Amino acid sequence: MDVTIVGGGIAGLALAHQLAPDHDVTVLESSPGPRGGGYMIDFFGPGFVAAERMGIIEELRTRGHVFEGVRYAAPDGRETGRIDVGPLAAALGGRYFSILRPEVEQGLLAVLPESVQLRYDARVLAARSTPEARAAAPDRAVVELEDGTTITSDLVVACDGVRSAVRGTVAPGHGEIVPMGYRVASYLYPDPELAAELGERMLMTDTVGRVGWAYAAGDSRVGVMFAERVDPALTERPTPDPERLQREFAGLHPAVDRALAHAPESFYDDLVAQAIAPRWSRGRIVLAGDAAHAPSLLAGLGTSLAIGGAEALARSLRAAGPHVEVGLAEYERRWRPTAEKTQRAGRSSASFFTPSSPGQLRLQQLLRRAFSLPGITRVLPRTFLAP
Ligand SMILES: Cc1cc2nc3c(=O)[nH]c(=O)nc-3n(C[C@H](O)[C@H](O)[C@H](O)COP(=O)(O)OP(=O)(O)OC[C@H]3O[C@@H](n4cnc5c(N)ncnc54)[C@H](O)[C@@H]3O)c2cc1C
Repeated sequence: MDVTIVGGGIAGLALAHQLAPDHDVTVLESSPGPRGGGYMIDFFGPGFVAAERMGIIEELRTRGHVFEGVRYAAPDGRETGRIDVGPLAAALGGRYFSILRPEVEQGLLAVLPESVQLRYDARVLAARSTPEARAAAPDRAVVELEDGTTITSDLVVACDGVRSAVRGTVAPGHGEIVPMGYRVASYLYPDPELAAELGERMLMTDTVGRVGWAYAAGDSRVGVMFAERVDPALTERPTPDPERLQREFAGLHPAVDRALAHAPESFYDDLVAQAIAPRWSRGRIVLAGDAAHAPSLLAGLGTSLAIGGAEALARSLRAAGPHVEVGLAEYERRWRPTAEKTQRAGRSSASFFTPSSPGQLRLQQLLRRAFSLPGITRVLPRTFLAP
């Protein structure tokens, strides 16, 4: 069948990889090319297992890195604690590494079968699944592009991220994001000197209300991330403003101040949010990745879920053969429990993300010590290595 995938991010490219041997696949991506800017993600859990099954784990692993751990520090630069990654990575059987989001995208592009038609600068405005459209062509779905053209195919998969343009059509009333009361900004910039100073440990500031991270992204670049609490009622995507960032996050740590001075004009800046959809498909339109079940960066598993969900969808479609709707229902039945478990974990960790008071900061410092207890390394693999 012909399949149109909306969004050439992580879920879209992973799905295209899996469907290409059996189907004619077109990917419509709104950006002019692969998205370069990015942040470091931890890759483990269900997506890791799926990437092994897909035969692409080595392509991703060679682009990743295993840090020694995290170093916490006070605004005067004093170290306040450490977490080592070693025990966690060992408990996960080595199925863990850190990787820049753009490297995941590049890795998926490197293994993308040639038969996939990947169109950049192709923004989808809507996918149509009205009762009239379904009555006219029950086994087809239509997407409308910004350039005024339409594409009709046997299946449309919306992989267009947490702010999906399609989710509201599949699950009316659920098109909006569900904000979690945080705003996050991040960027990469060249700074070999600071990269060498940061070395094998990510730096995280031990501060109240606002938190900064800095890490070496290879030998020559530094990645930074900034998080702050905001009104949870806000839903509109904020506009990146380097001067605001420099004002709001000054004084968290000398290394973070240095990185702030290099804030570019344009960078990733968005509300931390989940996507909730009580149903994932309608007729021949189905949601995948963040568009279906964004768990937010608080869960630390969005990329993993995006790859795992795409692979689960492809497997269910393969098993269902010509009975596409059966495959879509089976995908949701099998994959929703994993996605919802991860979303619950994201919500329950929300209040700990950025301490709101000195008392909460102290509590976090105590909880951090629990990570060095032997029991935690036995519990984590059971929690994260879901099928
Ligand atoms: C700061 C930060 C840190 C994170 N850390 C982690 C982590 O440690 N571990 C982890 O696993 N995850 C992490 N995540 C989450 C992770 O990045 C996402 O969950 C993951 O990228 C989801 O993949 P996706 O393909 O579903 O969506 P996306 O990666 O958002 O891709 C969607 C694609 O669709 C395109 N698109 C959007 N609208 C349209 C349209 N209308 N028409 C055509 N194309 C469109 C977009 O340009 C984009 O390329 C983090 C996220 C952030 C922001």
